[in-house]
Amino acid sequence: MLLIHCPYCKEKRPEIEFAYAGEAHIVRPDAIAQSEMTDEEWSKFMFIRNNFRGEHAERWWHNAGCNMFFNAIRNTKTDKFVMTYKMGENRPTKTQIEAAKK
Ligand SMILES: [Zn+2]
Repeated sequence: MLLIHCPYCKEKRPEIEFAYAGEAHIVRPDAIAQSEMTDEEWSKFMFIRNNFRGEHAERWWHNAGCNMFFNAIRNTKTDKFVMTYKMGENRPTKTQIEAAKK
């Protein structure tokens, strides 16, 4: 069973309590920027995401637990979670990711 560490509950919980919620660190353009975007730019913002093979920053939702969203670095090749961190925290640097693997 895959266990995922929730940074809010501060414990590892079974995967079935969580839901994937898309790529992390996607910033929605403000209203002014949205009004100036072309349809093609808006479409790209809405639907085009990175699809890395390897370590990827993702948003997860602890929907059957504390109901909080958080971010995770997960290796999409091995399905291993390297680290999780709270919403609003900066994306970890490569050094921090490497340190979390040890
Ligand atoms: Zn939680």
